[in-house]
Amino acid sequence: PSTVKIGLIPADGIGREVIPAARTVLESLSDGPKFEFVNLDAGFEYFQKTGTALPQETLDVLKNECNGALFGAVSSPSHKVAGYSSPIVALRKKLDLYANVRPVASVKSPAFPDQRELDMLIIRENTECLYIKSERQEVDPETGLKVAWADRKITEYASKRAGTMAFNMALTRQKLREQKPLEKRFWKQNPRVTIVHKSNVMSVTDGLWRETVRAVKEQNPDKYGGVDMEEQLVDSMVYRMFREPEAFDVVVAPNLYGDIISDGAAALVGSLGVVPSANVGDDFVVGEPVHGSAPDIAGKGIANPIAAIRSAGLLLEHLGHTQQALKMYDAVDAVLAEGKILTPDLGGKSTTTDVVNAVLKNL
Ligand code: NAD
Ligand code: MN
Repeated sequence: PSTVKIGLIPADGIGREVIPAARTVLESLSDGPKFEFVNLDAGFEYFQKTGTALPQETLDVLKNECNGALFGAVSSPSHKVAGYSSPIVALRKKLDLYANVRPVASVKSPAFPDQRELDMLIIRENTECLYIKSERQEVDPETGLKVAWADRKITEYASKRAGTMAFNMALTRQKLREQKPLEKRFWKQNPRVTIVHKSNVMSVTDGLWRETVRAVKEQNPDKYGGVDMEEQLVDSMVYRMFREPEAFDVVVAPNLYGDIISDGAAALVGSLGVVPSANVGDDFVVGEPVHGSAPDIAGKGIANPIAAIRSAGLLLEHLGHTQQALKMYDAVDAVLAEGKILTPDLGGKSTTTDVVNAVLKNL
């Protein structure tokens, strides 16, 4: 397995700037696996040209030839466009990428002295909840006004998979921490999983989620006995996350809550431009920066490539190349810690290319 083939799907906007940047960093890793890359189409612009946002060919190449993929961002419109649906949502479904893994960690830097210290990993269930997009509208015959409905689906199957991923990641993080000297460890307590829900109101759906994730630990005392488990209602989760973000290790949430809290958490570490994610399934991984296509800065060469570079690291990590991934994270952290070469979203004046070159220097 010394050759890793990666599908690159830049898609729209700054995706086309940050994905090539991440590729450059991957190519510069020494003594790791050999990489092969294949560029693949998808996105809203591709849809406007061809009528499809995710061509079958892209799916086929991913499934038949690639070990994993990197996805940039897609410019999904906020209004409904006939025939269009988001290619990343479709990819998650078609490749059964059931967990979205989002580390959010601070780096000490003179560039952001007010930085709160935190090192959390958010696991967002990726296949169901309100995002099954079962929506309809009708007109209320009594008032003549419109009424819109959405279904929310929570299954024991998906909740158990996401919960298992959370407990496994809590153990993996603990192992990695133990490789560092004690004074360099941010988290010094037992590994911990925080289950996010709102089952005081939605006792049927969130209730099933809560019980199922709890059962992962309760039914595997030998494996997960050393991992602490706590619960947090989603609204107070947001509150606590802003008040004491250092109090969280692994956080696991249903799809919608997970989406919202992880974008919110990005605000605690400087910018959406630095937060990575990986869509993880049992057979495939797609690295993907948390940010969107940023139409306001697209084409200007100033997009922050760090989220994409870290997403490439996550991809490697989930493909089993942990040491290479750690090298990438360290190189990025060194650039941030120095705080000199920063894109405008972090208050700097540097370009995408400047940041890539600084990362390469630290590799
Ligand atoms: P966005 O993440 O694209 O941008 C939000 C703000 O953050 C903008 O000011 C942008 O300039 C800035 N920003 C984001 N990434 C940055 C980076 N790497 N470097 C510097 N600045 C960065 O979110 P939005 O504006 O809400 O959405 C824009 C488009 O992106 C929409 O069409 C939306 O549907 C899409 N989107 C896609 C994804 C995805 O592909 N997974 C996720 C979120 C939004
Ligand atoms: Mn989001």
